[in-house]
Formats: sequence, structure tokens, C-alpha cells
Amino acid sequence: MSKTMQAAFVKAPFEVECREVPIPTVKEGWALVKVKACGVCGTDMHIARSEATQWQGFGHEVAGIIAEVGPGVKNVKEGDTVVLESSSYCGVCDQCRNGRVDLCNKAPNFWRKDSMGFADYILAPKECLVPFNNLSFEVACLAEPLGVALDMTYTADIALGNDVLVLGLGPIGLMSIPLARLKGAGRIYAVNRSGGKRTELARAYGADEILSSMDAAVFRKGGVDRALVSAPPSTITQAMKVMNYGGIIAFIGIEYGPGATISFDANDFHFKKTQLRASHASPAIYYPTVLQLLQDGHFDGEAIISHVMPLDQIGEAIRIMRDSREDVLKIVITP
Ligand SMILES: [Zn+2]
Ligand SMILES: [Zn+2]
Repeated sequence: MSKTMQAAFVKAPFEVECREVPIPTVKEGWALVKVKACGVCGTDMHIARSEATQWQGFGHEVAGIIAEVGPGVKNVKEGDTVVLESSSYCGVCDQCRNGRVDLCNKAPNFWRKDSMGFADYILAPKECLVPFNNLSFEVACLAEPLGVALDMTYTADIALGNDVLVLGLGPIGLMSIPLARLKGAGRIYAVNRSGGKRTELARAYGADEILSSMDAAVFRKGGVDRALVSAPPSTITQAMKVMNYGGIIAFIGIEYGPGATISFDANDFHFKKTQLRASHASPAIYYPTVLQLLQDGHFDGEAIISHVMPLDQIGEAIRIMRDSREDVLKIVITP
């Protein structure tokens, strides 16, 4: 094994660089993973746009092969194919002991290390390593965003026959469409202003109606029972207006600046008994379920991968994501 590897680093705004760096050394409780696929995520775009004030490694939707395990790593061995939980739980804090591992973020993780998933190798703690079989690496690395979409779908508590509105057709919103269908949604409405690949995939994934705007929206029950919002926070206000009595809105998103503050009619909220719930799949706890969905073909992973690109084109991948959103679904980097 050569002692150096290629790794990508990012600095805001939108500067990306591949460098030759030392391969990380394993330590107790950690394993070295040969990265075979790493998805480009909206979070990477936030990092590239403004978060990375200094050069930093990035890429967290990782599938690969265990290259070496450190002392004390028993759950995987060299040669195992794994996906990486982007964050895990510790098992010993109060939240974990109270059975709410979903509220823990205290486990060791691979964030903010020198390099991350856009590299030939990544060092990861044993808690994050989830073995898988019978999937390509490109599809397996979808486990991370699919888990995020599943968390949003669970948060909305979709019941049989519920009409569901999907606001935001990035990968998370798109992925939530077949999940909502599996949960028994009645009619699924998705909103997308322009056509393009996102609209096509929304249909292919089972959306019954694509609405060009919320203003023109007509719903068969007058409104919708559930809303899955993975769009800017202002969209919550739009969803509020079209919820049926007892409706539930699940929201996932990060916004900076004034757009992070919203207002809505609290009387309407009260009388309609609307529920507004936040989804945040950190820790990422649904990998066994999403890997099963991918393996069984209940979720078509191939369909959402629009680009597969080598590591040295990561800068180009970020630019494509920024400049031609409508024609980009999921970009997977294969180091
Ligand atoms: Zn992600
Ligand atoms: Zn914990």
C-alpha cells in the first residue's frame, strides 16, 4: 500500500482542491476504509458556499471496503464492505439510557478530520461502520441521504390514505416520495416550478401530481393531511395554509440569515390542530432499514444517480450542483 493518497479539500466560496496527503493511521476503535463511493450532498454545498472559512476535508455519504482495523474493532474485519453512518450514538449518555438514541450526538465521528469521504481512504470510528452486501457502492452510499428522507417520512407519521404534499425536490424530497407511498399515502403532490430531471423522477418515484406553484394548487380534499418539507423555511408558511384539520408538517432544512425566521397565523395553527415537527437524522440510525429497502428494490437507488464522477472531478461536481440544479439529481464520486 502506498503511503499517500488523494484527498479533496474545500474552502468557501466554492474553492475545491485535490491534494496528495498521508494515508491516515488506524488507532484503537477506528478502522481505515478504502472509499469506493461518496455522494455529494446539500450539506457539502453549504460547506462550499459559506461554512468552510479554512480549507477542510468533506464528503460524508461514504461506501467502501475495510482496509485495516485498529485494536478493539470487532464488528467488522478487513475486506468487509461497509457504509458509514454520518453520525452515530454513544450508548451511555442520559438520552441513550432513556432509550432515545435518536437524540444523542455524543458518539465519536469522522467529521472535521483532516480529510473526509472525498478521498481514497477515510478513518472512521467503529460505531459508524455498517456492513452491507449485494449492492453496488454507488447505490450503497445512498443509505445516508435515504436515512434522512426516512426520518422525515417517519416524523410526518403518514397513515394509510393520507394525502401528502412534498415541498422541495432535491434528493431528500425526491427520496421521500416512494417512502411516503410505502407508508400508504393516498395521493402524493409534489411542487416544482420548472420541468427537468427532478420532475421526471418525482413522477417515476410515484408522485401523482406535479404542481408548478402553491398558488395554483388544487387538492382533492381541499388541503393535504401531511407535508414533507425539505425546502427553505418560508415554505413552511405555505404548507401551513393548505393543511387539513389535524395535519402534520415534517421539516428538514438549514437556512442562514433572515430567511431562517418565519411567521405564520397562530390562530389558524390552533384551530386546525396542525402539528409542525422537525426532522434531523443525526444520529443516522436507520441504515439497516434503508439498506434493506435498496436491496429489495422497494427503493430504486439507480434512478436518482444522475452523475458518477472520479475524485479529481469533485470541483466540477460542486460547480454542476451549484449551476444546473434542475438537471442534477445525485452526484456520486468514485475515488
Ligand atoms: Zn448527506
Ligand atoms: Zn448517547
